Amino acid sequence: MSTNSSNAETLADYVASQDTLVQEAAEALPHQFSHCTYPLGHLRQAVYLCLTCPEARGICSACSIACHTDHEQVELFPKRNFRCDCPTEAIGHPCLLHTTAEPVNELNWYGQNFQALFCRCKRPYDAATENETMIQCLACEDWFHESCCNLREPPSSEDLPPENKDHGPNGDAVSKASNDLPPALIGPEDYDSFVCSGCVLKIPILQRYAGTRGCFIVVRDLPTSPWKILPDIHTDNHESLKVSSVPESSIHSNKRALSPTGVDGSTVKRARLLPIPSPSDAGCVAPIPNRTAQKIFADLTSSIDPSPALSTGDVFLTDGFRERWCRCTSCILELEAHPYLLNEEETYEPPEDPDSALSLDELGMRALSRLPRERAIDGIHAFNAMKDDLVQYLRPFAQQGKVVNETDVRNFFDGLLEEKRASREHQS
Ligand SMILES: [Zn+2]
Ligand SMILES: [Zn+2]
Ligand SMILES: [Zn+2]
Ligand SMILES: [Zn+2]
Ligand SMILES: [Zn+2]
Ligand SMILES: [Zn+2]
Repeated sequence: MSTNSSNAETLADYVASQDTLVQEAAEALPHQFSHCTYPLGHLRQAVYLCLTCPEARGICSACSIACHTDHEQVELFPKRNFRCDCPTEAIGHPCLLHTTAEPVNELNWYGQNFQALFCRCKRPYDAATENETMIQCLACEDWFHESCCNLREPPSSEDLPPENKDHGPNGDAVSKASNDLPPALIGPEDYDSFVCSGCVLKIPILQRYAGTRGCFIVVRDLPTSPWKILPDIHTDNHESLKVSSVPESSIHSNKRALSPTGVDGSTVKRARLLPIPSPSDAGCVAPIPNRTAQKIFADLTSSIDPSPALSTGDVFLTDGFRERWCRCTSCILELEAHPYLLNEEETYEPPEDPDSALSLDELGMRALSRLPRERAIDGIHAFNAMKDDLVQYLRPFAQQGKVVNETDVRNFFDGLLEEKRASREHQS
C-alpha cells in the first residue's frame, strides 16, 4: 500500500480519465458520416478547410471525415449560407459521398479564414498553440483574439508559443489555457454576441447603439490610459435581473480557443436587460447616441485619423439584444438588411443526433475540462492519439457509405482501452 500506492493511483486515474474521454466521445459522436450536405444547398453549417488540398474552399463535416480523412484540416466553425465544395469541380480531390461532379459554388463567400488566417492580426490558427479564447463576429463570422479586441493585454512573449518551433506529433508545446492569462475586461458571460469593427463600420445602426445600454464598446481616454467598457458594465447591469450564475470554473476552465461564445452559452446565465417597448408609431425610440462612441466612429471612418488608438470600434451585445432594437420604420429597415440582428440563425446539424455538430476536438475538450488541470495535459496527448486512430477506424465506414452505430464506436474504444491497459501493464 505504500510505495505502490502512488503508481496504482496513477494507473487507476489514467484509466479513469481514458474512460471519461471514451464515454464522452461515444455518447456524442455523430452516428452518420455518410451524407454530404451538398444536396441541402446553402446553409449555416460547420465548415472545414482542408490544408492538404490546394484549393481554398470549404467542406462539410461529413466530407471532412469521409473524403479528406488523412488530410490536414482546420475547423472554421459555422459559416452561413455555405454549400459544401467537396463534390464540386472547385476541388480536385474526389468526393466519396456525393459522387456526381457539381458546378462550382458561385454563392459561397470565402473570407480570410479560407486562407487559414484569422482575426484583424491575420494570424494562422493552431489549436495546439493558441492560448487565447477567440470570439466569432456575428456579422462576418471571422474569429478575433480577445487581446486584439483590447479585452486584455496581448499574451507576453513568454506566454506565446515558441514560433517556428516544431511541436512534434504529440503537441508537446501545449499552450497555456486562457485561464492562465489575465481575465478579460468583459468575459463570455457578460455578452451574447460580438460584432467586429470592420462590420460595425458597415452597419450604421450598430454605430448608433454603440456605447449605450446593452451595447458595449471598449475605449480609453488617451493612448496611454487603461481600456474600459462603455457604458460602465456595472451600472449597465444595475437595473437588470442577475440570474444565479454558473461557477467561475465551468465558464473559464479549458475554454477552448475558437470556442464560439454562445454555443455553450446555455450553461451560462447572463444578466438580462428588459426589452425596450416597441414604438407603436410614435417615432424612433433608439437611445440617444453616446458622444464618445460617435467621435470614435467618426475618427475611424475619417481618412485623416483611422487609428484605433482609442477604440477598435468592436461592439459587444448583451443577452436579449434582438428584442431591444427600436423597430420604427427607419430602424427596422436597417435591421432587416442584416437578418442575424433580428433573428438568431439556425445552424445545420445532421439529423438523429442532437450532439452531432460537435467536433471531435470539442468533445475532447469537454471531456478534458472535467479532468484536473495537471492531468489535462496528458489527456490532450492521449486524446490527439485517439482521435487519429478513430478517424482511421471510421474511414472505411464512410467510404462504403455504411452507417456507424453505437456498437461500432464502442468496439473501437474497447479495443483502444485494451491496448492502453496492456501497454501500461507491460511497462510496470
Ligand atoms: Zn460535403
Ligand atoms: Zn483535402
Ligand atoms: Zn466529400
Ligand atoms: Zn488577433
Ligand atoms: Zn465582422
Ligand atoms: Zn428607430
